[in-house]
Amino acid sequence: MNQRDIKSFERLKERFKINMEFAIRIGQLSTCDRAQVGAVLYDPKKKSIKSMGYNSSLSGHPHCDEVGHLMVDNHCLRSIHAEINCLLDVQDAADCILFVTHFPCINCAKVIIKKGIIGVVYLDSYRKREETVSILEEAKINIALFEEVVINPVEYMEKFGNSALISR
Ligand SMILES: [Zn+2]
Ligand SMILES: [Zn+2]
Repeated sequence: MNQRDIKSFERLKERFKINMEFAIRIGQLSTCDRAQVGAVLYDPKKKSIKSMGYNSSLSGHPHCDEVGHLMVDNHCLRSIHAEINCLLDVQDAADCILFVTHFPCINCAKVIIKKGIIGVVYLDSYRKREETVSILEEAKINIALFEEVVINPVEYMEKFGNSALISR
């Protein structure tokens, strides 16, 4: 690698780390302590964060930390998931990468696909289901574990076949 490539590599690594740090941090605002989930929508072309979200109740509605969980079939259904909160108000999420603290559920995966997201980088394999992996893979979304991606983020970005996404 030449000097310029090394710098690009380091910058990309730093961006990836910051994206995930933000996802973790914003997830701490979650009012459902069953899983504090955070999501960050990253635009690799603009090299900027477009949106963030965490799992929480509808605005003005009771929160789990006040009234307890809304349990159905061993899931708390009170919250809107972090991924949805992150993507709901974004007009254009196409060609973006979603950084999430937890592997998405199948319903969030469908929204991720609908929004034209190209990659999902997750920190925790929490409830990672084969069905969800399949649906994301069928949509040609590059799913990757943060721990592995951060070792060589350039390799991950090369999967998208667009060198502009790697440059500084
Ligand atoms: Zn809850
Ligand atoms: Zn979900």
